[in-house]
Amino acid sequence: MSRSSPRWTPSADPVSPSPFVIPFFIAHQGCPHQCVFCNQHVITGSSGRLTAAQVREEIVRWLGWPRDGKRQVQVAFYGGSFTGLARERQEELLGAVGPFLEQGEVELIRLSTRPDYVDQAKARFLKERGVGLVELGIQSFADRVLAQSRRGHTAQQVSEAFAHLRQEGIAVGGQLMVGLPGETTAGLIAGARRLVALKPDLVRIYPTLVLKASPLADLLAAGRYRPLSMNRAIALCARLKEIFDEAAIPVVRLGLQPSASLEHDLLAGPYHPAFGELVLSRLYFRRLRKRLTVLQKERGCATIRLILAPADRSLFAGQQRCAARRLAALGLLDHVEVAFPPGQPRATINHEIIHGYSQSHC
Ligand code: SF4
Repeated sequence: MSRSSPRWTPSADPVSPSPFVIPFFIAHQGCPHQCVFCNQHVITGSSGRLTAAQVREEIVRWLGWPRDGKRQVQVAFYGGSFTGLARERQEELLGAVGPFLEQGEVELIRLSTRPDYVDQAKARFLKERGVGLVELGIQSFADRVLAQSRRGHTAQQVSEAFAHLRQEGIAVGGQLMVGLPGETTAGLIAGARRLVALKPDLVRIYPTLVLKASPLADLLAAGRYRPLSMNRAIALCARLKEIFDEAAIPVVRLGLQPSASLEHDLLAGPYHPAFGELVLSRLYFRRLRKRLTVLQKERGCATIRLILAPADRSLFAGQQRCAARRLAALGLLDHVEVAFPPGQPRATINHEIIHGYSQSHC
């Protein structure tokens, strides 16, 4: 049966993606081997074989929850290599979603897979079953890093997978990792630029963590891998986020989803349950510092009111008010009042002179 894919609409707010996503996890299923950093049983907290009946029951259960009717309802299959599953198994899982798509209760199917497991026939099959978005586990564009991470594919295969999916009109997301074995900063930045050139519909960025029962845990124990520090991971992810922001490509996730199983089986690496917020706070701090430095020179004797969005209050403060304290320590908040008026749009920074004269009048 052929079915046209509904159009996927990117979220306006990449930090709080607007789709109502009903997630299913197929931990490691379809994967040819275990990549060096991966333990999907820990990351997704799931194991066992998902059945079509379970998919149907879960969708009905999720659809019963109250939700904003404007949010697009999506069903997602994560945690493995979906297109590496046997064709009958793909049919079984996608077929379970089919009736909900036909009735308009689910608007899109999304799934994740490996770049080397996408060819034109597979892309066409997904399109015919209503898949509208495929997220590719790219992780790196450096073949040396891919080899050391035991990915089993090349960067060239990423470009080919993009082309196959695009030819079928399927939106494509890309997942990148930071801190993989053998990675260099220059290679990481170059990889982000190569991904920009492929114009992904969304991006996820994950710092590499060392999880129990992963090959990376053995490398760590043997002293052959050193994880990134938290500060370095934040700095690198912030740089990548800037690159994607400049290209207007939504970054929908920064850091792994926190969970009890992840925290239990984490051995080392830059993990924080609010990692994405730390990265955004770093970027916001930089913007504010730049703006306040200019204002400090221009304002002369004047007192300034800095106008920020109420929704950005936590970004301004930073973790444990760290960002605000650093701005104050730099003297950048001297003669500055900070206001968060309702209606100020998110991520905007405005100011007004509330007392005194600017530089030209002093
Ligand atoms: S990283 Fe992806 S392909 Fe590799 S083992 Fe994990 S789920 Fe499978």
